[in-house]
Amino acid sequence: MTRRSRSRLEPADWYSIRPVRSMKPATYRCPLCGHQLHAMSDHVLISPEGDTSRRRHAHLECVAAANLPGPPARPSLLSRLLGRG
Ligand SMILES: [Zn+2]
Repeated sequence: MTRRSRSRLEPADWYSIRPVRSMKPATYRCPLCGHQLHAMSDHVLISPEGDTSRRRHAHLECVAAANLPGPPARPSLLSRLLGRG
C-alpha cells in the first residue's frame, strides 16, 4: 500500500505503546485527535502490532482515552515468524 493515512491510526489487532520524550525540535500529528504534539513533550509511541516502522507519535492522554488493545500475552511463534497473525 502506498497510500497512507496521515491523521488516523491504522487499524491493528493490537498496539505496542511506550513512553518517549525526544529532544528534537520536531512536531508530530497525533493520529488519535489529529492535533499537533511537540517531540519535547511527554508522549507515547504507538506501534501497530509492534511494527516500529509504522509507529506513530501520540498524546499520552489520547492513548489513555482510546483504550487501545495491548499485545497478546503469548504471541504465536508462527505468526511472529510469518510477520502477521
Ligand atoms: Zn492527541
